[in-house]
Amino acid sequence: MGDTIITISDVLEYLFCPRFIYFMHCLAIPQNEGSRFKVQKGREVHEEKRITNTEYLRKKLGVVRKEMNVFIASKTHHVKGIVDEILFLDDGTAAPFEYKYAEFKDTIFQTYKFQLVLHAMMIKENYNLDVKKGFICFTRSNNQIEEVDFTEKDFKKGIEIIDEILEIIDKGFYPGKSRYKNKCIDCCYSNICT
Ligand code: SF4
Repeated sequence: MGDTIITISDVLEYLFCPRFIYFMHCLAIPQNEGSRFKVQKGREVHEEKRITNTEYLRKKLGVVRKEMNVFIASKTHHVKGIVDEILFLDDGTAAPFEYKYAEFKDTIFQTYKFQLVLHAMMIKENYNLDVKKGFICFTRSNNQIEEVDFTEKDFKKGIEIIDEILEIIDKGFYPGKSRYKNKCIDCCYSNICT
């Protein structure tokens, strides 16, 4: 494996459509400003961050300490990114905590879930602690906090995702189309994507 380090934003792009990685990294074609899909991790929630009640976190989630806006990278897994918060829990484990400027609609999207899974992998490696779950705070649903439990399968899938992204970037592999045709309708790459 080479020296390429991908970002969490790359992962979100990939999960939307693997071809985004090819067009952006192999052909160096940026996304249009006005494209429907925007990875704005953290940007728009900036103003609304840190409004969760610390006392609530301590009591309900068993948080003994937390670190905020943590830049984190994994040499093993070739990925880097910023975690909104890392919670250290009273059972000796740690957990990533992400804010989403979104409403909670009874489901956790795969993009949200695997962002957390990759954060968990990086926390494990850097802090040498077990990570069994993560949390998402939906700021447009009155800061509702949803817990996401991780399985071994999730961690395996996380590694697969990274490997596939590296294969596209490092080897120029042209991936298949998105499985979800409705994503293609107003995709900024639709005119060059065959
Ligand atoms: S047109 Fe469809 S398959 Fe092609 S990059 Fe866009 S979303 Fe992916």
